[in-house]
Amino acid sequence: MNVARQLYQLQELDLEVESNEQALKHATSQIGESQAVLKIKDQLQPEQQRLEELRHQQHSAEWGIDDIATKIATAEETLFSGRIKNPKELTSLHHEVEAFKARRDQLEEKALEVIDQVEQSEASVAKTSRQLEKLTAEWQRQQKQLSGEVEKLKGALSDLKEKWQLLSEEIEPQTVEFYQTLRREKGTAVARVEQGICRGCRISLPTTDLQRARGGSLVQCSSCGRILFLA
Ligand SMILES: [Zn+2]
Repeated sequence: MNVARQLYQLQELDLEVESNEQALKHATSQIGESQAVLKIKDQLQPEQQRLEELRHQQHSAEWGIDDIATKIATAEETLFSGRIKNPKELTSLHHEVEAFKARRDQLEEKALEVIDQVEQSEASVAKTSRQLEKLTAEWQRQQKQLSGEVEKLKGALSDLKEKWQLLSEEIEPQTVEFYQTLRREKGTAVARVEQGICRGCRISLPTTDLQRARGGSLVQCSSCGRILFLA
């Protein structure tokens, strides 16, 4: 086989390896924590804390109401039991019951306010939790897709490198080395020749060079030094 053609194929494989390596790097860089998920977690945490505080306030208010209800019941029981005969004492106890009832009304009002706040806070936590769930699911889906992509690219790269190895073994080692040196220096080592023009530097090639290249010899462009390949 024409060695320029083989080197050209080697170069095609190298280009494919490069593009796959770039894609692999890009995919790998996207694997990891999601900023959007972290942000919503940061938002949810204080919301949950606030809800916990409000529930605590609600329970305190409810216990306070229970406590005062017991006091009212006890006082009223005494008041209506007939055990106390002294009118002064009865009046005093009556006032006590009234004061308890006023306090109970205050506590009930406060409890209703807190219950309202608890409901609002619960709605807010539920909303943020749903957002977190949605974002997490989305992120997991993306991560799974990325992992699949990474595996696919690794497989493709390993295949390409094996092909490169097999092809390079058909070529003289010094020629492969020469190709690699040229590639490092110029980026493209092998230039196609189209209508007598080197595609590497767009110069018109002398007929003798074209004839030698066509004959299967390894010919470099007299202008850019690239290996000429006549398709
Ligand atoms: Zn050239």
